[in-house]
This record gives sequence, structure tokens and C-alpha cells, in this order.
Amino acid sequence: MKYISTRGQAPALGFEDVMLAGLASDGGLYIPESLPHFSAEEVSQLVELDYPDLAVEIMRPFVADFLEEEKLQVIVHDTYKVFRHKAVAPLTQLDTNEWVMELFHGPTLAFKDFALQLLGRLLDEALERRGEKAVILGATSGDTGSAAIEGCRACEHVDIFIMHPHKRVSEVQRRQMTTVLADNVHNIAVEGTFDDCQALVKASFADQSFLKGERRLVAVNSINWARIMAQVVYYFHAALSLGAPEKEVSFSVPTGNFGDIFAGYIARKMGLPIKQLIVATNRNDILHRFFADNSYAKEQLAPTLSPSMDIMVSSNFERLLFDVHDRDGQQLAAVMKAFDETGSISVDEARWQAVKQLFTSNRSSDEEVVSTIKQVSDECSGYLLDPHTAIGVKAARVCHSDKSVPIVTLATAHPVKFPESVVRAGLSEPELPLWLADLHERPELYTVLSDDKAEVHRFIQEKLGL
Ligand SMILES: *Cc1c(COP(=O)(O)O)cnc(C)c1O
Repeated sequence: MKYISTRGQAPALGFEDVMLAGLASDGGLYIPESLPHFSAEEVSQLVELDYPDLAVEIMRPFVADFLEEEKLQVIVHDTYKVFRHKAVAPLTQLDTNEWVMELFHGPTLAFKDFALQLLGRLLDEALERRGEKAVILGATSGDTGSAAIEGCRACEHVDIFIMHPHKRVSEVQRRQMTTVLADNVHNIAVEGTFDDCQALVKASFADQSFLKGERRLVAVNSINWARIMAQVVYYFHAALSLGAPEKEVSFSVPTGNFGDIFAGYIARKMGLPIKQLIVATNRNDILHRFFADNSYAKEQLAPTLSPSMDIMVSSNFERLLFDVHDRDGQQLAAVMKAFDETGSISVDEARWQAVKQLFTSNRSSDEEVVSTIKQVSDECSGYLLDPHTAIGVKAARVCHSDKSVPIVTLATAHPVKFPESVVRAGLSEPELPLWLADLHERPELYTVLSDDKAEVHRFIQEKLGL
């Protein structure tokens, strides 16, 4: 399978190069030239598979020129063995035809583990074969950093450096990163904001001379195609459990960078009968404004109770816009240039109407998040939603158009990660799962550095012995 850039200028690459590259050289995002398609009969043959075997079947066509099937089997089984629920992504019923899919049974209690546990292993395999070593450098406001660290802690060919804003991430989130005491894991607390951390990452990718040509710099942010690919699997898993291919299923997805929901869109294009995809946002609602008013326009960031969805622009949305513009890279490059220059775009009315056949959207305020958590707890004998998931459940309840079709909300995090919302709902604080119960006693290791590129680079050089 070849992957092409959404901006039409970068060379087409295979899976391995796409995984290592992250962003395409023309500034676009990689996307498969064509997708594998499963007929209804082929979909029905997947029904009996457990999660890892299903993952192998769904992902095999995407990685075929990189991994032979036996190797893929081993890697995928290793990946999903670390999840703490036998079903990996279990469904919990809230009401007639209404479900949540719990994606928080991985090591960091959020859905990002599904992709990053796999990506760490795939990267290590690629680097082993090439005889190379890589440096992963990332910035995090919480979930991504811990999931990336957990995904790479066992990698032999990767050192990971994660910067978080000093004293500006939650206690649980910080500890999930800083208590991983592995030789290749390096936590940096930057005296600055999340944006400062991101700027340091960006500047480091632009000038990699500090690595002296000895290491490759790799990004594992949500635009990496391997992450989208891993997320396609759980849409199949849920739909198969609820009657696909005979029955259609709809999904509501708490969305920030449009990565998770884009995987649902890909699943549908691969033949899964998905009726509706509901884009659920918080106050940082650029995506909701696109689907409601055909206005994709950058606005000021507003902090919310659902910090993992606090974004100004959605980095993966470009992949959908590529299809909206008939997969014409040249046209899309012009659209993205206009967006960079003006901070705002809208699309042709007929194209917009077409995309709205599938996508609907809804926005929640913090107050609505709290009341949804309370409502579901009351209705379902104390079942707790995290604030991101609550945004999804509320959107599902508002937008679900055909009640005969089951609706599944993606539960993207465990409520214990974001206790403030639960407490505001007047409920008692959720407890850490047993295997994490001593998190607050575990020793931590991190280094505080000032918001200074040279200082960060010196730190990295020292750790790598460069
Ligand atoms: C990252 C994250 C999201 C948003 O996912 P996207 O792929 O960026 O849309 C939602 N909820 C939680 C808990 C997250 O960590």
C-alpha cells in the first residue's frame, strides 16, 4: 500500500517511511492512496474474532509491505495483552440502544494507549531492522505524554523526551509520566505553558543539528498515520458486537484533533455500516462551527473541564478536507494556505451538504458536562463518566436521529483521571484501579528546565551521551 500526501507534492511512501516521517515534506498529512474494502460477507466473517485477532485482520492490508503476518500477530497480541480488561474495549449499556465503549483499560487509562502501545512496538521493529536509534520528542498537556511514555518504555531503540508545563498538569497525569523510571524515558518540566513546550518541539524539529546526525527525530503526535490505523479497529469491534454487517451502528466521539473520529470515517469507507458520526466538542468548538455553520475559523483557546480536547485547530481535519475536495492535493494546498493566512475557511455549499449526510456535531459547556455526569450516574446506578466522555454522551442524546440504530459513545478516559468534574457533580471521587493504587507513593523523576531551546538541547545531548 502506498500513502500519498494531502497536499500533493511530497513523494508517495510505504507504511514504514510514513510512520517514521509523521508530517509529509510538503506540510501535508499522509493518507492511503486507496483503502482496503471488506464486503458484507467478509465483515460477517470477523464476528467471532477476539480483539487482537480482529486487529490483525483490519490492519494487515495497511502494513503488508512492512510486516509479515506472523510478526504482526506477535506485535498485536503483545500490544493488547497489557490492557486490563479481557474484552480490551468492552461495551457498557446506558439505555435502550445506547452504549459506551470503554477505551480506558490501557496502562494510562485513556484511549491513546490503543495507538501508542502499538506504535512504540512498530517503531522499535523498524529501527531494529535499520540498525538505527531514534529520539521521540513531544510536548504534552496530559494524556498524550503518558501514553507515549508507556508505549516506548520497553523500546530498545528509542529514547523518549516528553516536556510538560511545570506545575500545570494534574497530579495524576504528572505522576503517570514521572513514575516511569526507565533508562530511556526522560521527563522535562518546562517553566512555561503548554504552548511554550510545543514551540520548543517545533523548533527542535526545524533544526535537528543538536542530534549531531547520530539520531533520528520522530514525532508520535496524532497526525501519525499508524495511530489512526490502530483506532479503526475498535469501530469494527463495537459494530460487530451490535449486529454489523446486517445492522447499522452510529458513533458519538469526543473530539479535539479529529484523529479518533477520523478513524471511524475510515472504518466506514472500508465497508463498516456506520450510519452517523457525531462530532462532540467542548467550548473549543472549531469543528462544531464547521459542521453547524460551514465556518472553520480559529478562535481564542478557552480552558475547560475536558483539557484533552482544548485545541484551537484540529490537526487531522485536513484529512477529511482532502476527501471533501475530491482528493485533489493541489486544490487542498491552496485551501490550507488560505487558512494559514486568514485563520478561517469555508467550503463550497454542495460539498458541505454532502459531508453533513454523515457527520453531525454538538458542543457542550462545562455545566452540561457536570449535569450529564450526574444524570448518567443517577440513571445507571452510579456509573461514572469522565468529562470528555460526558461530552460524547450528551452529543449522542441530542443528535441520535434514528433510535432503531444503536448509538455508541467512545469513552475516551477513565473518570479517575479528571476527578474535578465528578466532584462538581456532587459525587464521590472515583478511586484508582487496584494496580495503580500506589501511584501517589511511587518515586518520581523529572528535571525542571527553563523555557530555553539551548538548555533543553544540552539536556538531551547529555542524556544521550552526544
Ligand atoms: C486526546 C483525547 C481526546 C481527543 O481525541 P482526538 O483524537 O484528538 O480527537 C478526547 N478525550 C481524551 C480523554 C483524550 O485524551
